[in-house]
Amino acid sequence: MTYTVTLIPGDGIGPELADATVAVLDATGVPFEWRRVDAGESQIAAHGTPLPESVLDSIRETRVALKGPITTPIGEGFRSVNVTLRQALDLYANLRPARSMKGIETRYQDVDLVIVRENTEDLYAGIEHRVGKDAAESIKIITRFASERIARFAFEYAVANGRHKVTAVHKANIMKLSDGLFLESCRTVAAEYVGRVEFEDRIIDNMCMQLVQKPELYDVLVLPNLYGDIVSDLAAGLVGGLGVAPGANIGETAAVFEPVHGSAPKYAGKNVANPTALILSGALMLRHLGETTAAERVEQAVREVIADGGILPRDLGGQAGTKQFAAAVADRVAAVLATP
Ligand code: NAD
Repeated sequence: MTYTVTLIPGDGIGPELADATVAVLDATGVPFEWRRVDAGESQIAAHGTPLPESVLDSIRETRVALKGPITTPIGEGFRSVNVTLRQALDLYANLRPARSMKGIETRYQDVDLVIVRENTEDLYAGIEHRVGKDAAESIKIITRFASERIARFAFEYAVANGRHKVTAVHKANIMKLSDGLFLESCRTVAAEYVGRVEFEDRIIDNMCMQLVQKPELYDVLVLPNLYGDIVSDLAAGLVGGLGVAPGANIGETAAVFEPVHGSAPKYAGKNVANPTALILSGALMLRHLGETTAAERVEQAVREVIADGGILPRDLGGQAGTKQFAAAVADRVAAVLATP
């Protein structure tokens, strides 16, 4: 069976990373038809928007996409393509695993966290306005529906993947209504999993301190959108940085796989960016498609090449370019296939 996948290379370092990842995924022998569509800065002149409707149509049709990062102007300009895409396709769960890898020098060797971030509401709802010349308001939306839905996703993920604990993260001591509702919803869902998955909660500031001091105490974290965004970068930092942090945006009818990192414009076109995060996002995509053996092969190949230490991208202390590192991973994937 051939899988038709929408491929969105994106901005900045995105196109190089997309080529690298396609090479690795094709090396698994899983048959893909890549349907390439463009979104991002390059599309504004031709379409008047960085997210042409044809991109959304393609994902609606293929139901699965591999996506590079897309630039968002800071403080002005068009709305984030990434946020718009997640909301338009109701990709409500943002899944971001962070796991230590041998060969990457970090403070801890045993980090194995899964961040489950609510992806559709909170301050990302984009409802903000100026109040006169010198003030502005952003509205934080938290609903029982979305909170229970993301909590259930976290617990179901824990059950399906043999994880033992879910920690809900919030600031309900201050935002008693909005974060209070998020926490209450998590508690409601947790009650259905008593005896199967442990449940606890932490206030976001304390959570950040605990994660940098004793990350081994935590397993699956479930968070509203903004805290989830921040804590997933923190978790990426614990395991080697943004270059190695994969992600998935999952909904009922479609899923988009993309790294945690952005378009790193200063490295664009220089063949220096680390493709690991997008390659591992591709492995998450393989799992989503039910191609578990191929997913494990890709993850194993990445781990082996990094553990060997001979061919490492610059952010991991080596000299290898994007293409060279990806070729080493693809060779390793193909070598496993060739072994009888
Ligand atoms: P960024 O993730 O692009 O870069 C931060 C730093 O991390 C870079 O300077 C670089 O040192 C490092 N880095 C990131 N990815 C790397 C890789 N693959 N290999 C090596 N080093 C890497 O974050 P930023 O500079 O805050 O954002 C740049 C643009 O990306 C902004 O327009 C932002 O809105 C956008 N962005 C997009 C997404 C997305 O598409 N989902 C996510 C985050 C940021």
